[in-house]
Amino acid sequence: MSQLRDVVIIGSGPAGYTAAIYAARANLKPLLVDGMQPGGQLTITTDVENYPGYPEGVLGPKMMEDFRAQAERFGTEFVLGQVNEVDFTRRPFRLKTDFDELEAKAVIICTGASARLLGLENEAQVMGHGLSACATCDGAFFPDKTLVVVGGGDSAMEEATFLTRYGRKVTILHRREEFRASAIMLDRAQANDKIEFALNKAVTAYLTDDGGRLTGARVLDTVTNEESDFPCDGLFLAIGHVPNSRVFQGVIDLDEDGYILVHEGTRTSVDGIFAAGDIADKKYRQAVTAAGMGCMAAIDCERWLEDQAH
Ligand code: NAP
Repeated sequence: MSQLRDVVIIGSGPAGYTAAIYAARANLKPLLVDGMQPGGQLTITTDVENYPGYPEGVLGPKMMEDFRAQAERFGTEFVLGQVNEVDFTRRPFRLKTDFDELEAKAVIICTGASARLLGLENEAQVMGHGLSACATCDGAFFPDKTLVVVGGGDSAMEEATFLTRYGRKVTILHRREEFRASAIMLDRAQANDKIEFALNKAVTAYLTDDGGRLTGARVLDTVTNEESDFPCDGLFLAIGHVPNSRVFQGVIDLDEDGYILVHEGTRTSVDGIFAAGDIADKKYRQAVTAAGMGCMAAIDCERWLEDQAH
């Protein structure tokens, strides 16, 4: 069944919900496609302490529930599923989700970013069986265990520090000697008795038992070129994020890392297609900036639709 909409919003993080609130209040009756992880990355965090208006902090999932309720209050409709195919070469634009075919006069893309993985052979099988990309989601499953965090940025420091609440020992494996992490986050991790560092180490394989559960990592010393096995009960990847833009490759202009290029606010290379949030912002990547950009996209979209009508 194909339904023509003024605006379809793809993605349900702070950018998507805010775009929906503004578009709905502008009487555009937006349809929002939830995506694989309704609520986005904030649903896998705990406390959000830097979103203005919450002086006591707020749980990420609760904040996303509130955003959604506000979008719903003004008439946003939600559909489950992912957008798997788009045709932006003609108008109305066409989108195929897992369950629907949609037509839209304008589209706002807010598909966000996901944790980067190492791309090793048995990664999908080990994920959830000792391997994780989210310490706040899975840390509690590893009481008194030996843990590894891979990465050298702020996320790695933050996740390792967080994991010391549960694990007996946390080792940060980093492929270089220099860190991308900020001084304050690095200092905090270095001052923590439960955290050790193993530098110039790259993970080359996940080791498992017969049941497929992670037992450690094979690690290459990038200086000596020697490989060794590093036993651990849990391994957490904290090696950055990748934009969820696969479906838009070759359709709209992306930068070399796959982020959607925007100009004049939130316009993409295709007239009538707008982008907001982490999918179009690798610099700030904050809930508040994503929400702000979602607002901008809805306003840009509303004005564009108005221009088309004249
Ligand atoms: P990031 O700064 O890009 O760091 C990613 C780390 O992972 C780098 O050390 C990188 O190593 C390593 N890495 C990337 N690909 C790898 C691979 N294939 N194998 C092994 N290692 C790999 O990402 P992030 O730590 O997620 O931080 C992203 C942004 O969010 C930053 O701006 C950060 O400041 C911010 N952030 C802030 C906070 C906070 O303030 N509370 C917390 C988390 C994140 P190389 O250095 O060798 O490239």
